[in-house]
Amino acid sequence: MSNIALSQKAQKLMTLCDQRGFQDLDDLLLAALLNGASPAICMTEGCNHTADMEPDQDQGFCEACGGQTVVSALVLAGLI
Ligand SMILES: [Zn+2]
Repeated sequence: MSNIALSQKAQKLMTLCDQRGFQDLDDLLLAALLNGASPAICMTEGCNHTADMEPDQDQGFCEACGGQTVVSALVLAGLI
């Protein structure tokens, strides 16, 4: 079970990097830590909507699919 969840998180983090134009996850996480606002992505399968959220956000509103499903990169990476 946890392996599936982990790979989904990793995939969403990679998608988030791509969409925001970060070279790799380190750059994205550093920017999030410095800015006080974190890039975030919807965890719904097939949605991939991104937004800027509070660094500890794990149930943000998704404007694309309407769910409380947007999670910040820092939470996804397990840093918070
Ligand atoms: Zn969504």
